[in-house]
Amino acid sequence: MSPILSVRNLSRNFGAIKAVDNVSFDLAKGELLALIGPNGAGKSTCFNMLMGQLKPSSGTVQLLGKNIAGLQPRKIWRMGVGRTFQITATYASMTVVENVQMALISHHRRLYSLTSFAHKLYREEALALLDTVGMVDQAERHCAVLAYGDLKRLELAVALAHDPILLLMDEPTAGMAPQERIALMQLTADILDARGISVLFTEHDMDVVFAHAHRIMVLNRGELIANGTVDEIRNNPQVQEVYLGG
Ligand code: ADP
Ligand code: MG
Repeated sequence: MSPILSVRNLSRNFGAIKAVDNVSFDLAKGELLALIGPNGAGKSTCFNMLMGQLKPSSGTVQLLGKNIAGLQPRKIWRMGVGRTFQITATYASMTVVENVQMALISHHRRLYSLTSFAHKLYREEALALLDTVGMVDQAERHCAVLAYGDLKRLELAVALAHDPILLLMDEPTAGMAPQERIALMQLTADILDARGISVLFTEHDMDVVFAHAHRIMVLNRGELIANGTVDEIRNNPQVQEVYLGG
């Protein structure tokens, strides 16, 4: 089966710094692929290029065979590349269900206004998505009062509202306690698996990575130094050196 995402020789320089240096990889349908590496390795730069926030210096990115490198973020997002958006202050005064409704309204290219909410536009669909992430009982709460972990689950529901083919998650569990991290990634993995959505994620917590990734890629100083299964990466001497040797 042809890959969902195919990245070839992707590079990005900042002046003399090669933040991402000639990176190539494929991502299969339904695959949960982790991108790891020390601070400054180039993980976020790589993500920003995949979602159109940064233009590559060179290289190609194909989504289902179409080149998306250098396209505007909105265009890439419309083509099915989702990400977990931070729920920003703008939406903090809205309820949980309204946030998901708003995402659905945007996905269906409807105009939103107060009447959308008065008419309960997409409310049933929004509640179904909240049920998926285990938050239907919090539907009427305001986002401003949610616990951090619940906000993360809401972000996942909002991302799902856009019906993505591929989800990019840059440090989805940052700021969470270890037990919460495992639970969030377990929920994410189960939902995405059930829907056949591919995921590329970065994560500092190796327990989370080893527990959930189907495959792991290791970046170091912009270069992809390893790409393999959990066991292969665990036992790779070069990876051990990068992580332990400092
Ligand atoms: P990671 O996410 O793996 O920690 P980054 O992609 O953020 O790494 O950074 C990779 C390298 O690129 C670092 O050396 C960083 O300082 C540099 N870098 C990232 N963004 C910029 C930028 N906008 N301008 C200049 N240098 C940058
Ligand atoms: Mg980063």
